[in-house]
Amino acid sequence: MYHHVKNLMYDVNVGEPDVRFGRMLLEQFGGANGELAAAMQYTLQGWSCDDPERRDLLMDIGTEEISHLEVVGALIRMHFKPMKKELEDAEQDPLVAVVGGGGLNLFNSMGNPWTADYLKIAGELDVDLRNNIAAEARAKITYERLMHLTDDRGTKDALQFLMTREITHMKAFSAALESLGKDPFSIGKLPPTPGLVDEYYNDSTGEDPEAGKVGVGKWIEMNGLHVVDSPFSFDAKGSGLTVDGHNGHNGKSSTRPRPTSGAKLKTA
Ligand code: MN
Ligand code: MN
Repeated sequence: MYHHVKNLMYDVNVGEPDVRFGRMLLEQFGGANGELAAAMQYTLQGWSCDDPERRDLLMDIGTEEISHLEVVGALIRMHFKPMKKELEDAEQDPLVAVVGGGGLNLFNSMGNPWTADYLKIAGELDVDLRNNIAAEARAKITYERLMHLTDDRGTKDALQFLMTREITHMKAFSAALESLGKDPFSIGKLPPTPGLVDEYYNDSTGEDPEAGKVGVGKWIEMNGLHVVDSPFSFDAKGSGLTVDGHNGHNGKSSTRPRPTSGAKLKTA
């Protein structure tokens, strides 16, 4: 059940309306990493969740995101005000000015309509919590970039609040994930293939024109991986991509299943 409280979650003041900035703010309203996407992602995950404690968390944060949407909406409304009267301002976004009367609608900064395709819902709690941690990280960085693009004090203050809350959510989703006590690489029920799972394929050849010889660092071994030569390589004459074992490739043995005979690959 939902209930509307007539106050905003954070009081919004805009000193100097800026239609162009308001348009960029639409990214956090009807955009891929915006507040509606966050609200719908967590709420729908919550409605599907069989774990009462984590369902509560998903619903709490989903509800807070709707309150964020309201704050972003208030900011956009104030920044859009001039487009109701001035041709130059209306020109910044004719879709909003002429079709929407300078009001809010679910578009991103480029006028693309909001879509449920933005939502990442896997229906597996730990996978969804990871989706949410990533969503919060994207929301945080988007707010940070927006903050660099305005000098308006009141706008900056509201964005600072919203940006901060995304880190709070990130902490909460991370705690929920850790509290499940699952091995971080155990996803779903089927185990990965032993041996194969620990092979990191070195899929690069040549030298970086700027940096010279670079490769993956020792840190790759942190989670039990080891580097093996790619089963695919360019042949010496540079005539195309070949499969390990078909053209003198000297790679160390790999447990990757080999393509059956006749599977020699050639690039165009
Ligand atoms: Mn938010
Ligand atoms: Mn959030």
